[in-house]
Amino acid sequence: MQNLLVTGGCGFLGADFVRFLLAEPGFSGRVVNLDKLTYAGDLRRLSGVAEQAGGRYVFVHGDICDQEAVPRLLDLHEVDTIVHFAAESHVDRSITSPGDFVRTNLSGTYVLLQAALASARNIRVHLVSTDEVYGDREGLSDACEDTAMHPSSPYAATKAGAELLAWAYGRTYGLRLTASRSSNVFGPFQHEEKFLPMVMRNAIRNKPIGLYGDGRNVRQWLYVNDHSRAVWKILSGAREGRAYNLGSGTRLTNREAAEAACDAVDSVLGPSPGGPRRNLIRCVADRPGHDRRYAMDGSRAECELGFRPEVSFSEGILRSAAWYADNAALFEA
Ligand code: NAD
Repeated sequence: MQNLLVTGGCGFLGADFVRFLLAEPGFSGRVVNLDKLTYAGDLRRLSGVAEQAGGRYVFVHGDICDQEAVPRLLDLHEVDTIVHFAAESHVDRSITSPGDFVRTNLSGTYVLLQAALASARNIRVHLVSTDEVYGDREGLSDACEDTAMHPSSPYAATKAGAELLAWAYGRTYGLRLTASRSSNVFGPFQHEEKFLPMVMRNAIRNKPIGLYGDGRNVRQWLYVNDHSRAVWKILSGAREGRAYNLGSGTRLTNREAAEAACDAVDSVLGPSPGGPRRNLIRCVADRPGHDRRYAMDGSRAECELGFRPEVSFSEGILRSAAWYADNAALFEA
């Protein structure tokens, strides 16, 4: 790996990965970050990176769906590895505007795969996928990597479709490929439309916190830096042609996660005059098609790559609450 293209590097996970890579002693190459800067992309996530990394970091403002620009970019920067984060990523938006998800998540992935295949450099592609491709695991065993995909939301369906297309490129054309299917990721500087940032933002402002349905939906949680480390382990040690579940083992109902986030804000800011901030939580009408339970077996990543999360949920949520409290002004608009 010498010249690595990260798509969506100004997003929550992509930016952490760019920072991780540039600090990783085992990687001495160059990182090219291709990002369209949609409402979810934010250059401030990478502030200082270009200065610190010197010529090892290049930002390109562009669209993964651009069939002319993407192959040109791969050639210009002599890219040998693509790590594909860019996506429309918010389930609620996929319910109201699925077309944007089809365009970026499906067509955009197609453009990248096609460009990788057309290149003379035998480019390797890593897809950043999600546990949501397995769909609702309520009453079912934990999903392992061979479990069939049953996505529920338009978001999850486009992620599953992107993966299936990629695996077909592997089988049909011999494209070099890996994928990771991560559980919910959390940490500093995630977009405030996402669940835990929304909870912490409202807790900081002492505003009501909406919880979909009865709040008993179960999710696994992984700290953002652990996610980056896992992707690096896949790039540096995994067998090609394989997918890896990245589940943290920390399983919480949404109510438990929201209460923990409120308690973390209490510890960081001190008690609120109105009482514990978890009292701000209110159940609201459920999201249509809301999956009850996500559950993955993460033993492949552990056995083959030695990947285990290092940051516990309780530690990660405290770090996150401290960050959201310190940076509340970023979310004023
Ligand atoms: P995000 O919404 O924070 O960031 C997405 C980034 O992609 C933004 O910087 C945006 O500008 C960019 N982008 C969107 N459309 C683009 C396009 N057409 N061309 C170029 N750039 C474009 O998302 P995230 O939470 O960082 O998620 C990153 C990836 O990880 C996604 O593929 C998502 O499906 C996957 N994932 C996320 C989680 C999670 O909990 N956040 C869990 C599992 C998997």
